Amino acid sequence: MQKQSLFKWKNVGRWVTALALIASMGALDAARAAAVVPIVATIPELAAIAKEVGGNKVSVYSVARPNRDYHTIEPRPSDVSRVAQAKLVVRTGMQFEMWMDSMANATGNVNLTPGGPGYVNCSLGIKREGMPTTQITGASGDIHIDGNPHFYYDPIYAKFIARNVLKGLLRVDPANAETYRANYTHFNAEIDRRMPGWQKELAPYIGKSVVTYHENFAYFIRRFGLREYGHLEPKPGIPPSAAHINALIQNMKRDGVRAVVIESIYPTRFADVISQQTGAKYVVAPYSIGALGTTDYFSLIDKLVSSFKQALSH
Ligand SMILES: [Zn+2]
Repeated sequence: MQKQSLFKWKNVGRWVTALALIASMGALDAARAAAVVPIVATIPELAAIAKEVGGNKVSVYSVARPNRDYHTIEPRPSDVSRVAQAKLVVRTGMQFEMWMDSMANATGNVNLTPGGPGYVNCSLGIKREGMPTTQITGASGDIHIDGNPHFYYDPIYAKFIARNVLKGLLRVDPANAETYRANYTHFNAEIDRRMPGWQKELAPYIGKSVVTYHENFAYFIRRFGLREYGHLEPKPGIPPSAAHINALIQNMKRDGVRAVVIESIYPTRFADVISQQTGAKYVVAPYSIGALGTTDYFSLIDKLVSSFKQALSH
């Protein structure tokens, strides 16, 4: 937490400059911005779902670029400008993107802070997993202080995200309610249409164990009936150590675990060692929409399903 507050102060100067620039923007920009609802999402997956619901009535910007570690984003002054102009801020709401708090506060726009009409908490309605069982301190290193925030890889929870975005859009732009409701219904129907196919792909592996680098796929794994066996990180946010990797290798050998999925932002050298020692196969899976040829939420889930299938069918 100490690190977080230092970080905020370091950026205040740059942000004040950015806000001064916004204040001097011309009427043309203001008119263009008024044509659609400007949305800022924290990460590409929430941005993609917001675009599905908002359609051509919104413009959507993701602060985090694809394939960057979402836990450690350093916003730029231009990101603060985007937030200052936003009518809706879309985030996981699970103490994940705390870098967004600093920006929303810097704009002084209370509409974008918790409880405000422009604040969309995408975790409303989901069953949180990975809640810390002990008090988190700097020494523990666990960065999931409010539970595991990676529910956006679960296609059923994508419908919850879409619903939370819909509610936000109805608050800030009720004039287009009909369009938003239709888009939301279409997105849900599309998830429902594809879900049986995704389930069929992974059905042969129900109950099978899989190892990932970080706890990113906890909700995805549970949704498809797989078993989250362990992680290359000893704790969320703590890089792998030799001792932890050795213990993991021994446990995998003992239990016959042979499936490893590595998210595309992480190095593969530890997975190489595990592979050599256990005979397990590792597959690199997309961390973001935009990674490994994925272009939208559906192609992300397609690729995740095929990655897990490939690792588990070894
Ligand atoms: Zn995480």
